[in-house]
Formats: sequence, C-alpha cells, structure tokens
Amino acid sequence: MRSCTRNACREVPHVTLVFHYPSSTIWVDQLSDERQPNEYEFCVTHWQRFQPPSGWSLDDRRRAEVLPFVHRLAG
Ligand SMILES: [Zn+2]
Repeated sequence: MRSCTRNACREVPHVTLVFHYPSSTIWVDQLSDERQPNEYEFCVTHWQRFQPPSGWSLDDRRRAEVLPFVHRLAG
C-alpha cells in the first residue's frame, strides 16, 4: 500500500508530482500504476498545501476538474 510522500504522512496519495528540472516545471498527473523514482505522491491535504518552489511552474495534466487554484508562476 502506497502512502503520501511527505514524511510521516500515511494518507493515501491523490496526485503525482514530477519535477522536470530542465524546464523548471512540476507536472501534475493522476497516480500512475507504479511510483517512479523521480515522482512525489501527495495526499489531498498535502496537495492542497503545496506551493511550487520559487521559479517553478505547475502544469496540471489531469482533466481540469479539481483545482480551484491552478496558477503559473512567471519565470
Ligand atoms: Zn500527506
């Protein structure tokens, strides 16, 4: 059973985050079947609290149904 990537969190993961360093973009995907080494999986709570690091942008590749706060940071 997988759990949220955040330390000490045992909630079921909700989204997958992939940090794409060459473009400073964080891809947001639905959970994949297997966790990849460069992926982070957050539960709903941690996802809602998540803010991209300075200079990074979020690219939500899921269906546009969930996020009220999709935003992009200007580079
Ligand atoms: Zn969590």
